Parts: sequence; C-alpha cells; structure tokens
Amino acid sequence: MKKHNFYAGPSILPEFTENQVIKAIKDFSGTGISIMSISHRSKEFVAVMEETMFLFRELLNIPEGYHVLFLGGGASLQFAMVPMNLMNKKAAYLNTGSWAKKAMKEAKNFGEMVEVASSDDKNFAYIPKNYKIPSDADYLHITTNNTIYGTEIKEDMDVEVPLVADMSSDIFSRMVDVSKYVLIYGGAQKNLAPSGVTFVIVKEDVLGKVNRTIPTMLDYKTHIEKGSMFNTPPCIAIFAALQTLKWIKNLGGVEVMNKINREKAELLYNEIGRNKLFIPTITNEQDRSIMNVCWVMNKDFTSLEKEFLEFATERGMVGIKGHRSVGGFRASIYNALPKDSVEAIIAVMQEFENSKA
Ligand SMILES: *Cc1c(COP(=O)(O)O)cnc(C)c1O
Repeated sequence: MKKHNFYAGPSILPEFTENQVIKAIKDFSGTGISIMSISHRSKEFVAVMEETMFLFRELLNIPEGYHVLFLGGGASLQFAMVPMNLMNKKAAYLNTGSWAKKAMKEAKNFGEMVEVASSDDKNFAYIPKNYKIPSDADYLHITTNNTIYGTEIKEDMDVEVPLVADMSSDIFSRMVDVSKYVLIYGGAQKNLAPSGVTFVIVKEDVLGKVNRTIPTMLDYKTHIEKGSMFNTPPCIAIFAALQTLKWIKNLGGVEVMNKINREKAELLYNEIGRNKLFIPTITNEQDRSIMNVCWVMNKDFTSLEKEFLEFATERGMVGIKGHRSVGGFRASIYNALPKDSVEAIIAVMQEFENSKA
C-alpha cells in the first residue's frame, strides 16, 4: 500500500532528492567513490558546498552583507550560539511554544532574557500580538513556525530591534525578506535534507559586538572565514539540501512553492472545518500554519480518537498522531508532501465520517 508521510521531522523529502542521494552514495559526481567516503576537501565536494550556498542565496534573494553557513548541532545548538554571539546584556523573546522556551532557557545563560509575550495561557494556540519590545534589547527572537502547535508567523515583522528567527520548519515554504532579519537559522530536517545539517543566515555587521570569549567552534566568524569547512561538514545532508534546492528552483522558486503550500493547507483546513467529527486546534485563521495542520475530535466524538488513528493508519497515513502536549492529530504538509497525500487524508476523514453516520 502507498504510504503518505505526514511526519513532523525528520520528514518527507522530494523523490528527486532521495534518488540523487542514492546515486551519489554509489558514485558521487562521476568519481567512482561514494559521497560517504570522499574528502570534503575534494574539488567535487567543494563544488557541492559552493553551489548549495549559491542556490540558497538565489532562492531566498539574500542581500549582500549576509553569510550562509551549514553547521552541525541542530537548531538546538543555535539556541545557545545566538545569545553567545549576539547578546551583550539583554535580549527579547516571543514565547510561542516548546522550541521558543528552549531558546529562552539558553539565553538566560548569557544575560537578561525578557519574555515580551506568551501564548502559554491557551496552550500556544495563537500568536501573541501587540506587545512591547524593550528598545535596548540586543535582538528579538521569534519562532516563525511552531511545529508542535501548528501556528505560524507568515509575514516578516517590522520591529525596532534586530530580529532573529528560528525557521526550522518553514524555511523555503514562503518568500522571506531577509533584510528584515539579522539572523535566521534552522535544522534542515523539516523542509530541506535529512537531519545533520543546520543552516544559518547571518548579517555580517551584527557580529563582533560582544565582550565574552567565544569557543572557536561556536563563533560564527570561524565558520564564515572557513566557508563552513572549519571542520568536517555533514556532507550527505548538504548534498541532499542542494538537491532539494534544485527541485524548488525547477518548480519555479519559492513563490510557486508557497502557492502550492497554501492550496494544500486550505484543502485540509476546509475539510477539518466541514467534517462533523473534527475541529481545528487553531481557530484564528491568520495564525494557522501552512506546514503543520493540527486538529482534534469534536467534543461529542472524543471517544473515537484512537479508532480514527487506526483507521487512517490502516489506509497508509503515517505520522499523524498529534504531539503529546497537544493530543489529537497533526498532518505535517511540508514542501515535499504532494497534494495527492493531502487528498488521500481528506478522503480517509470523509470515509470515517460516513462510517459513523
Ligand atoms: C525541529 C525544530 C527544532 C529542533 O531542531 P534540532 O535540529 O532537532 O535541534 C527547533 N525549532 C523548531 C521550530 C523545530 O521545528
């Protein structure tokens, strides 16, 4: 039976990416050697690194004065690297859920962490608005897509302080005005590549302003100077990211990707709204994620939750169990998830509803 992969991360990648990686594991770039076994200093791999950086910049239209880095450690290491490199005394954080909280915890190690607003009162089911940001904050940190709760900040914000964003789960899903940020980071395993590589887009002129000693490996400047080759990079994951970027470019770029994503999300939210058995967890449409769609059983049908999960699993739906802190269901409909899969889950929801009528 065909499987429809709705996992939240690691998650579905384009078939094109998978096929190119399979080929490169056998014979990378005509070298007769596997990508697993070739020197990262070989001219063939150096070319991969350069092309990945180039395409990353091209697709997001990244302006001059910014660097693109490919590092290890996941988004979770960035929770510490960001304040270590950017925070002198004070930094502001918007608390929109688990990932934001983890970033906030690390920031406290480097100075005063100010929580500007939180949606904790409603289990993070909305994006806080109209809050004050201390004007002396070194930056404001936001999480643009809250993978666990299914909320998303879908527009680039205008703020008076430098803006930093964790875009782990929505990078390349929409066009971003990079010039509004000083730093954007994320783990690649949601929309780009297998786990192992972390992307960082950083504005050169925000660096070098803190007084603390930064360990060499944790200093963005180290990786800028060495073109992300200070130490051995995660070669396969970077190669895979390049294939995904080529796939996006072939589709027509990030704007086209966004249009497809919005169509997919609308189809699924419409069905959740229409189907008597289900209700969405995010009621404010403006705050709804187009990457992670969350819903629960309607109040008269809560006893059917387990049954629906089994029903859907038997029909090839994979990874739709909601995160333990929300319950219910979550369909992650990242860039690479085909519209067919969205239609397939909708058909299953309708079949289940009809079986109960
Ligand atoms: C998955 C995720 C992370 C964690 O990424 P790691 O690479 O596992 O550290 C952080 N932030 C967001 C928004 C995520 O979706």
